[in-house]
Amino acid sequence: VLCSDGNQQIRRGMAMPLRAAGYDVVSTNDASAALYELHGEEPFDLLLADIKMPGMSGLELARRAREVDPAMAVIIMTGHASFENLQQAVRRGVADFLSKPFELEELRLAVDQALHKRQILQDNLRLRAVELLLHSSEAVNATLNQQELGQIILQMALLHAPCRTGFLTLTDHNRRLGEALSSSQTWALEEYGRMMTLQAYRRGQPVIIDGSEVLCSDGNQQIRRGMAMPLRAQNEVVGVLLLCDDRAEMLRTGTQEIITLLANQAGIALHNAHLYGRLQDTNQRLTEFDRLKSEFIAIASHELRTPLSIVLGYAMMVREESEGEQREYAGRVLESAQQIKEIVDDMVNLRHLEMQQTRLQLGQCDLRDLVQSAVERRAPMAQAKNHMVTTSLPDESVAFMADGEKVLLVLGHLLTNAMKFTPTGGTIQLTAAVWPRSTLLNAMSHGLVPADGLLPTSEPEGEFWVVWHVQDNGIGIAAKEVSRIFDRFYQVADSLTREQGGTGLGLAIVKELIELQGGTIWVASTEGRGSTFSFAIPYQSA
Ligand code: ATP
Ligand code: MG
Repeated sequence: VLCSDGNQQIRRGMAMPLRAAGYDVVSTNDASAALYELHGEEPFDLLLADIKMPGMSGLELARRAREVDPAMAVIIMTGHASFENLQQAVRRGVADFLSKPFELEELRLAVDQALHKRQILQDNLRLRAVELLLHSSEAVNATLNQQELGQIILQMALLHAPCRTGFLTLTDHNRRLGEALSSSQTWALEEYGRMMTLQAYRRGQPVIIDGSEVLCSDGNQQIRRGMAMPLRAQNEVVGVLLLCDDRAEMLRTGTQEIITLLANQAGIALHNAHLYGRLQDTNQRLTEFDRLKSEFIAIASHELRTPLSIVLGYAMMVREESEGEQREYAGRVLESAQQIKEIVDDMVNLRHLEMQQTRLQLGQCDLRDLVQSAVERRAPMAQAKNHMVTTSLPDESVAFMADGEKVLLVLGHLLTNAMKFTPTGGTIQLTAAVWPRSTLLNAMSHGLVPADGLLPTSEPEGEFWVVWHVQDNGIGIAAKEVSRIFDRFYQVADSLTREQGGTGLGLAIVKELIELQGGTIWVASTEGRGSTFSFAIPYQSA
């Protein structure tokens, strides 16, 4: 409690009982001494001032006290409470009046009431601060650009705290403090300010500076008082906010609370912005990596083709012209070279598809013929693994326009996969049919559809689709893998995959080939029980 009255007896008469009631009391005999105390280190809760003091009235002192602390409780003591005085006091929001002379009980009651009002006022101010913080939270979360965010944080800090200028120093990816951002271009951070920033960063604790050293300056002015507040996110200091001002309010508990709250929000927002930046970098690197991979495939496949055709040509010639063991060896060379050629062809095909250099060669197709040739082409493989391959087709013959070779390529890849990933003695079924769109959509909704394999939702009148299913009772695919198996080179790690070999390009080609024909592919699979790969292309009548 700060008591200010010109009369020593009255000062004593107030101080004694208040001290006895447990208050810390400071007494002054005029307004300027009271002002000096108000601007000092110790904050006051209550000002008890005589209305008439030399130099400055009690009401003016009250106004100044409210500048220091907007929630300050004030009691004005008056010997002759005139109406005019009261009016003025009300206008200035003075808390209470005490008419001299007063009883001890009156004093106690007035002090209790004033402090209660102060409590309410403080709560209100906090509420307002929280409201402001909420707004600033929206503001700091509005951008993911670190520099922009830095400026917003500084603006918010100046809005909430009684400070003239602020500096924000962020850490870089090596956890070193970078250059300080300033809230205004005219203010520059001085050596001491930098030191305090570093100290707050190292300690991870706020550092209050109330010294003789200069924190920052703008040519004519120098500031020596301030607060360096570490900004934290996930137990890591991501930067330091240094707020500077010479007013004492700057260092009060209330201000510190608000700045701490703001610092926490700012820390998290900065951390998010940092993560986002890293994500962008990684994405960029991945895109570049992807481009290099494509380029590598293009170069490798191109460079392999010529020597490979020479190997194939000579191996064939040697096999034709030799006998016995030699013929057998040449046969093996030929077989292996053929395998390499298939891989190179896959690479080239995929490259052409991705570069959109593949053209459709539409022709009249027969559903039964397509299914039969697909199965015939894979017959040796089925025999080798003793698979039972069955087909299911509509009773009547179905003719339609499509690129038959490409459909055969798709069926070939799917059948090869089914055979590769189904143990010896398993069953593989190839089904083909023509469906209206509604049946197709219904079937797709039960499968695990690759992300971009969905059909447009509008249903043109009388629209039909040619649909194939390749079903096996093999090892199946885990649900979490399904979205990735269509990626280039992706193979579900499994001993069987390694046993069977392959490059992981098959399904990538399949998907491109189907989409090229305006079609879609979807998968239903249960690990350990088998998979069904289904695809559909729009039916075009022949
Ligand atoms: P490539 O086709 O280039 O010779 P691959 O068969 O391994 O090699 P994809 O055809 O793209 O590559 O298939 C990718 C992965 O999807 C396979 O490695 C396998 O893990 C999984 N997969 C594909 N089809 C099946 C299937 N019918 N059953 C179980 N897993 C499958
Ligand atoms: Mg394959």
